[in-house]
Amino acid sequence: MLENLIHEECGVFGIFGARKAAELTYLGLYALQHRGQEGAGIVSSNGEKVHQHRGLGEVNEVFSDKETLSGLKGHLAVGHNRYSTTGASSSINVQPLLITYKKGQLALAHNGNLTNSYTLRTSMERNGSIFQTSSDSELILHLVARSKKETVEEMIEDALSKVKGAYSVVFNTGDSIVAARDPHGWRPLALGRLRNAWVVASETCAFDIIGAKYERDIEPGEIAVINKQGVKSYFPFKPVKRSFCIFEFIYFARPDSIIFGDNVDKIRRRLGMQLAKEKPVDADIVISVPDSSNTATLGYSEESGIKYEMGLIRNHYIGRTFIEPEQTIRDLDARIKFNPVRGVLKNQRVVVVDDSIVRGTTSKKLIHMLKIAGAKEVHFRVSSPPITSPCFYGIDMPTKEELIASSKSVEEIRKYLDVDTLGYLSLPGMLSMHSLNGRNFCAACFSGKYPSKIEMNSGKHVLERKCCGEF
Ligand code: SF4
Repeated sequence: MLENLIHEECGVFGIFGARKAAELTYLGLYALQHRGQEGAGIVSSNGEKVHQHRGLGEVNEVFSDKETLSGLKGHLAVGHNRYSTTGASSSINVQPLLITYKKGQLALAHNGNLTNSYTLRTSMERNGSIFQTSSDSELILHLVARSKKETVEEMIEDALSKVKGAYSVVFNTGDSIVAARDPHGWRPLALGRLRNAWVVASETCAFDIIGAKYERDIEPGEIAVINKQGVKSYFPFKPVKRSFCIFEFIYFARPDSIIFGDNVDKIRRRLGMQLAKEKPVDADIVISVPDSSNTATLGYSEESGIKYEMGLIRNHYIGRTFIEPEQTIRDLDARIKFNPVRGVLKNQRVVVVDDSIVRGTTSKKLIHMLKIAGAKEVHFRVSSPPITSPCFYGIDMPTKEELIASSKSVEEIRKYLDVDTLGYLSLPGMLSMHSLNGRNFCAACFSGKYPSKIEMNSGKHVLERKCCGEF
């Protein structure tokens, strides 16, 4: 994605039954870094004592010395990567959140966004609850702590029965891992095996890095308790229509991951192939907006027979703290990220494939750069439909007003971008591909049809939500 305006809000990881569980969690979080770069944390346990370390920054910055990791003792651990939408990141919101309650200590790592958090939170505050963070993940912990059920597993079930919206969660109870996914299954969560240890993670790329094997997904509505006895699953909630986030396939997940039981690379390539079928064009070369569009571009090239070229080079070394110089260089923000390859583009009719257009401002700058580099024609192709509506299920994106396709037609966007042709993948085309066909996906940001009721005060579109349901 060119504009870097849509963000996954978190990555979660948990492991039970491994020596040096925290070190394996560190590696898992490292593989999941693309799901959140603002903060990271690990809470480990040896069955008696709980250890934690959390901080702002990328995983290798938060755990920058060996002593920190080796101090996180125990055979079970949960970890979290966090994304925040504002500069005012606060370490208090970095997960896993850890509480002390009547059963001891409990840590939670949450990916997703609750849609009834406002009602729950205001009612709990009215009844005297004091919140430490602005995160709705803390709401889940409050609900667990207030539950009158007997065991911690029952208390977690009781708490989850009260929340609505998207959650893929991993708890560290001190002597077990509890992994759960909301009944719609918006966000992914996979279960894997590393010799005698069990592992859960947002994406299977976190298994690959530690040599674990993907077993299956944690199913929508499943609560899996992982302890010395193995994995015991419960399905306590009424089944509902599944709503897997299609955007995970389009952009968020790593192409080497398996999510929702499918290989991301395979689906992403098919998106590109379908796009070529729907929006063909006579051109000399096809280039991608690296790196997130590379796979869809390969699909477009394969289907269309148009040669795939490296027409844009991405600078991979822009850190979080990069300060844009105060210079009046045209297209500077696009130039900082990308450089066109003049020898490839000169006098060519170029197809540019991107996975989505959000505001369109950076796309316009990039297209201008391609033309300056000598492209004779520019045909923009998008491997998803126009984004018209915001997400309330754990993806941070600009408000509806900022989404270019919420107010402009495709022809108006084409004129704004100043391209020869513009073509988006159709909604039916996206959903009708072989592997997706017949399965239930959420595509609300494209269709405006939300698979669940959205509470009036949900999300940053009314309140200033920052991450994992913060508000
Ligand atoms: S609204 Fe879009 S980004 Fe959000 S869960 Fe649905 S498909 Fe995914």
